[in-house]
Amino acid sequence: MNPELAWLKSAVAQPRAAAEAEVVREDAPEAGVPGWFTCALCGERVAHETWRLELHLGRSLVFSNPHGLVFHLALWAKAIGLTFRGHPSEEHTWFEGYAWRTAFCVRCGSHVGWVFEATSAAEPRTFVGLSLAALKFITGS
Ligand SMILES: [Zn+2]
Repeated sequence: MNPELAWLKSAVAQPRAAAEAEVVREDAPEAGVPGWFTCALCGERVAHETWRLELHLGRSLVFSNPHGLVFHLALWAKAIGLTFRGHPSEEHTWFEGYAWRTAFCVRCGSHVGWVFEATSAAEPRTFVGLSLAALKFITGS
């Protein structure tokens, strides 16, 4: 099995994530189409489609935070054009073994997601979860 796939299945099978997360089919037309996800507010390039962790799944994850806000999250191995704030925290983390920091668009400051950093032996050591509602897709390289 693709180690990426195994990791994602393992991550969403954890008790906390299983209670709060739902794996949904990606209905976005961009699935598999080369292009960039940009900040929905200012257009800054943030992540390329081919950098996605769950590319082969064609799915995104739905999470809620303790404030009841719901996020449709897609996961990337890396991202650009982001700035991170705060110290890594494991509080209410969506992924067991990972601490998170909030990620903002470097140009306009819009909150676009989180970076997750492993606090255990988990792989990958780091990945980025971006809110699909905060992004806009554009085709092209
Ligand atoms: Zn922006």
